[in-house]
Amino acid sequence: MRFRECPRCRTGRVLDVWVDEGWQHQGLGHALIDTLLERHPGHRWSTTRKTRRGRVFFAVMAGATAVAFPQRGPLCVHLAGRLAHAWRRVTAMR
Ligand SMILES: [Zn+2]
Repeated sequence: MRFRECPRCRTGRVLDVWVDEGWQHQGLGHALIDTLLERHPGHRWSTTRKTRRGRVFFAVMAGATAVAFPQRGPLCVHLAGRLAHAWRRVTAMR
């Protein structure tokens, strides 16, 4: 999963969540989201939802975690600026 987060504004943006084909539908994507929310509690999130599968995934995650993942632009100037940090990654291993 690639994301950016701004500790100053407590905002974050998820670029994508990618699970290897052989490991899909086993809760890994959900585990990544849980990890992200654990590490960055109280953040407001947005997503890019480029694909149909991504839209479905985040709709399910919003229901499962009670955290909204609206599809919109960056939530603060730090995430939008040209000098924004490179996308960070969270990975899960089992
Ligand atoms: Zn910010």
